[in-house]
Amino acid sequence: MSAEKAQALVLQARPFGETSAIITLLTREIGKVRGLAKGAWRPKSKFDAALDLLSICQVLVIHRSSGNLDLFTEAFLEHRFRIGRYESSFAAGLYIADLLDSVTVDADPQPELFDLATRAIRFLSAPRPGQRTEQRFAPDSRLVSALIIHTELGILHQLGQLPSLYCCAECQRPLEGRRISFSMLGGGGLCQRCRRGKRSVVSVSSEAIVSLRQLADSFDQNEYTLQPEPPFGEIRAIMNTLFANILGYRLKTSHWLAKTFPSSREKHR
Ligand SMILES: [Zn+2]
Repeated sequence: MSAEKAQALVLQARPFGETSAIITLLTREIGKVRGLAKGAWRPKSKFDAALDLLSICQVLVIHRSSGNLDLFTEAFLEHRFRIGRYESSFAAGLYIADLLDSVTVDADPQPELFDLATRAIRFLSAPRPGQRTEQRFAPDSRLVSALIIHTELGILHQLGQLPSLYCCAECQRPLEGRRISFSMLGGGGLCQRCRRGKRSVVSVSSEAIVSLRQLADSFDQNEYTLQPEPPFGEIRAIMNTLFANILGYRLKTSHWLAKTFPSSREKHR
């Protein structure tokens, strides 16, 4: 048995027995780890809220011999997720946790991915009453939509699967025109010549490509309070398909984003 300390984000918490829980953590130091927290769901648990879903905490992991679940014996809360007035922030947090759990493997630390994830979770969480915050705006659907897409693009970047947004994925010619061919099977933008004969290529608006470029670069709160609004419905459909192709299935939690993102189909009806 060996013990390790780590900073962690709680991706999943499932009951085990009467009062214990099986917890999946994304940690900065040791990657994803699943383990047992004995007595975590007792009314006066020593873990307090540190191992609740979407909490950020410092945890002590006891690694056990193969075949046995690791143990979490100590956990100290650093940041608790608070549901504020804008409920869709919580759905967004759950989706990001689910996505991280799906795209990562155990024990493969990616500190940049961890930092990206915890920044997003802290942003989505409502401030404590009376707490001063760097956030200039309360999250609304536009900000939350932009943050989700920024986080997804960051995840794709970490996976080495960020689609090509500036030039053709095959021949490197710049992408031009009002409609751009976009390969959903990885790769991203394609020029007219290279798109011929390719499967799973869709036509995407140049506005969507410009927004994707901006959101892949940075997440600026100020920008998303301005007009014009990015075509979020169209971008949502692109991200859903990209991740469904990578994972081989559609995440159940992605359906919970429907309230945040206007459906592009309904909008154009
Ligand atoms: Zn090309």
